[in-house]
Amino acid sequence: MHRITNHKEIIDKIYEEIITGDNLGAPAGYIPELAKVDPNQFGVYFMSTENDTYGKGDWQTKFSIQSIMKVLSLSLAYQMLGDSIWKRVGVEPSGSAFNSLVRLETDNGIPRNPFINGGALVICDMLLSQLKNPLFDFLSFVREVSGSDKVYYNETVAQSEASVGYRNIALCNFIKSFGNIDNDPNEVLDFYFHMCSIEMDCQQLAHSFEFLMDGKFRTKNGSSVLNLSQSKRINAIMQTCGFYDESGEFAFKVGLPGKSGVGGGIVAVHPEKYCICVWSPNLNENGNSHRGMKFLERFTTETELSIF
Ligand code: GLU
Repeated sequence: MHRITNHKEIIDKIYEEIITGDNLGAPAGYIPELAKVDPNQFGVYFMSTENDTYGKGDWQTKFSIQSIMKVLSLSLAYQMLGDSIWKRVGVEPSGSAFNSLVRLETDNGIPRNPFINGGALVICDMLLSQLKNPLFDFLSFVREVSGSDKVYYNETVAQSEASVGYRNIALCNFIKSFGNIDNDPNEVLDFYFHMCSIEMDCQQLAHSFEFLMDGKFRTKNGSSVLNLSQSKRINAIMQTCGFYDESGEFAFKVGLPGKSGVGGGIVAVHPEKYCICVWSPNLNENGNSHRGMKFLERFTTETELSIF
């Protein structure tokens, strides 16, 4: 098996090249609080199934994980409800923007996949029906999988997004009109905005995906998060739908399942080998971290470790 032994040197080299190169793009402008973030920050954290870990740059600075939380909310819903979740959300790439309403009309309110906003709102609705104290219970789950108690919602970011969340408000109400949202749309939206506002650093976020990297992963209390078949499916959806309209490009250039968020974070997983989190706030025209994409492309090329 091809093992990664010189990851530190490779990370150091690529990091230096990228941080001294261009920093094109801009932080997400449509959420006022995110637009204020210093765009020069750049962090990387690597971990392997063999317990090699390495952080570089701003890997200990917390940032807004935004859409990356969709992998965690989907995983919790899958754990609680099993395959019944696929009756209410599909598994196909959408081919339209992450916040688009277009296809919902012809698809009878069934979002194409759980990583576009419509799909994530349906997953939130499922969790709202299942959890006794949704905000508290979801955060407990995230803390459990990340192995860190120091993970919090950012109330200011949640309120900032809620104040301009017209698209998501429209989406949630539109899906409700098809009967695919059970709860009060305002409650679903409040839960969704809070989940997006969760802050983590690169280390915490990489560890949060350990259960998708390592089939032997167990939480502190000894339980697995998903079974192997379920993890396979989440990784497959990350591969096909994890990067907005750039999912094909990410597979082409990087060749790993992963998920990005408009806070500039990206987590990518090589099942049974390693997990890597990169963060830099400037986004390219597709909403993915400019430096993050460049870093990962170089990383899988130089280590020769993609899933393909
Ligand atoms: N909270 C963001 C939204 O709903 C998440 C977007 C993202 O990271 O893709 O617009």
